[in-house]
Amino acid sequence: MSTVLPLPTPVLRNADRRGAREADKLAKRLRHQVGKAIADFGMIEDGDKVMVCLSGGKDSYTMLDVLLQLQKKAPVSFSITAVNLDQKQPGFPEHVLPDYLRALGVDFHIIEQDTYSVVTRVVPEGKTMCSLCSRLRRGALYTWAEQHGFTKIALGHHRDDLVATFFLNLFFHAKLSGMPPKLLSDDGRHVVIRPLAYVREADIAAYAEAKRFPIIPCNLCGSQENLQRKQVGLMMQQWERESPGRIETIARALGDIRPSQLSDPKLFDFLSLGHRDGAARADAHAWLAGEPHAAPAPGNDSDA
Ligand code: SF4
Repeated sequence: MSTVLPLPTPVLRNADRRGAREADKLAKRLRHQVGKAIADFGMIEDGDKVMVCLSGGKDSYTMLDVLLQLQKKAPVSFSITAVNLDQKQPGFPEHVLPDYLRALGVDFHIIEQDTYSVVTRVVPEGKTMCSLCSRLRRGALYTWAEQHGFTKIALGHHRDDLVATFFLNLFFHAKLSGMPPKLLSDDGRHVVIRPLAYVREADIAAYAEAKRFPIIPCNLCGSQENLQRKQVGLMMQQWERESPGRIETIARALGDIRPSQLSDPKLFDFLSLGHRDGAARADAHAWLAGEPHAAPAPGNDSDA
């Protein structure tokens, strides 16, 4: 039988030091990426009241943590309130977030609204509930933000969410559109910001682990993830395995769009490209109708 010998203390200390250095580097990278996204998109300005939506998942914990760090040294003054919606899913540990937030000393509020019963009543058994659940959650949070005068609503979507949404729209909705870092809600009443827009999901997972956030899983209700989203997620994981860095390349491409190299005449005026002054143009109907344009007869020059 082999005996596992304990590592000598200096080796352990070196490993601890290396771990602490890595954690420091990661925290610095996250602050840098979040600060850059805030600046690039004008996410937060002086006097903003920012409502940070906290679900209890790794992404929203990380967002809150990094925003609180940045707030201390920010060039503008803004307030932060963490808000969670208790949707009354069975098994939701109600005390976890209040305990965490109280210990942190951050202003917070828990909205209680039983969207779970609505979702289970409306969605047929066996179908995924996440889409309706998220819509109801968004509605409750946005309403609360409006009632309490918040000027920005911060959501914890990260770089990989932005890329996944782009592919979902591309593959299943024939649209070149994604999840923007800053957005005006459909009713024009809320400005939504995504401060983690530049942050890799893997970095968030490592950060959440290092910080030991008290994670509350989002599948307590037992609902399955939407199949299309799952497919896109698997595809992205495979790409990243086979070609590390590909997701970052795609994320960068989302911020470097050339309308003249795509095919949307609403974004780029292809009609005027190379158009000669006075030259007649015909629409698609005329092209398809097959009626030839009456060309002037040779020698029949009107100036003659
Ligand atoms: S897993 Fe459950 S709680 Fe989470 S979004 Fe889906 S339906 Fe809602």
